[in-house]
Amino acid sequence: AMYNSKSQGYNQYSFFNSELNSKILRKNEIELLLKNANFDKEFELYYQPQIKIPENNLIGVEALLRWKALESGHISPAEFIPIAEEIGIIVPLGEWIIKQAVMQISKWNNLYDSDLKVGINISPKQLDTPNFIDYVLSIIKTYSIKPSWLDMEITESIAMKGESTVQSIFATIANLGISISIDDFGTGYSSLSYIKKFSFNKLKIAKPLVDNISTDSSEAQIIKAIVMMAKTLGIKAIAEGVESEEQLKLLISLQCDEVQGYIFGHPLPASEFERMHIKQFAN
Ligand code: C2E
Ligand code: CA
Ligand code: CA
Repeated sequence: AMYNSKSQGYNQYSFFNSELNSKILRKNEIELLLKNANFDKEFELYYQPQIKIPENNLIGVEALLRWKALESGHISPAEFIPIAEEIGIIVPLGEWIIKQAVMQISKWNNLYDSDLKVGINISPKQLDTPNFIDYVLSIIKTYSIKPSWLDMEITESIAMKGESTVQSIFATIANLGISISIDDFGTGYSSLSYIKKFSFNKLKIAKPLVDNISTDSSEAQIIKAIVMMAKTLGIKAIAEGVESEEQLKLLISLQCDEVQGYIFGHPLPASEFERMHIKQFAN
């Protein structure tokens, strides 16, 4: 016969060894691990400081998810969050994240008599869930926190889509006294009137813009424009991913309100964050 099973097999073998397929295999593996994950055992929130400049006061923290995945070694949220969104796990996982973050900020603000905000990254899938607001309300009530301690981070691309359901959720969130920050700001197209209409509280200036600032760079001009726009609207601007003294100095001179980045601290587990950042700021 002309048909040669061996060579078919060989072709298949080489096909399955392609880079594309190892990516698919890894994705399938992550999907399976996510579907079977025990959130309490496998996930942890790390916290990164948000600092008011030029006073250098700790005013908030961003909660960043870490997966202490068993066999798979380190998997970054940039890799597994999109998969969690795709398979819908982000909804229960997102609720778990909100609950952990609320418990933590309640503990810290009560213990240190502080008024820190916790920034929580919210995925679009969560906003599309009918009981999202009810869940948030129930958690706020259970842990009796001030709604203003919560800061929901929503990426610019999602926030600016202008879908009517998302718009009404923004209005509800704002009316509850929860703050909304626009994450990765400055990379997409946003209209001033839209930002004004929804009374967002803060613009998080995207790291790629911050990366390349020097006194006369076009990025510095863009950041200056964003900061001025924020001031006009009566909201705050925070620069993300600030790593160097030069960046910090320039951001101070541009009158940026706040910064977040390795220069003030990497994301840390709650206990380490408390030791490194809260105790020393507490009065
Ligand atoms: P993001 O919301 O823009 O978070 C900021 C990312 O920048 C974090 O990466 C943080 O660790 C990193 N970062 C902060 N300061 C610096 C710096 O000075 N230099 C550098 N090079 N990086 C810095 P991370 O923790 O790996 O998270 C990546 C992304 O995964 C986040 O980007 C966010 O989109 C997503 N993510 C993380 N945690 C959650 C979560 O709880 N829920 C959702 N939906 N998404 C999350
Ligand atoms: Ca964020
Ligand atoms: Ca960001």
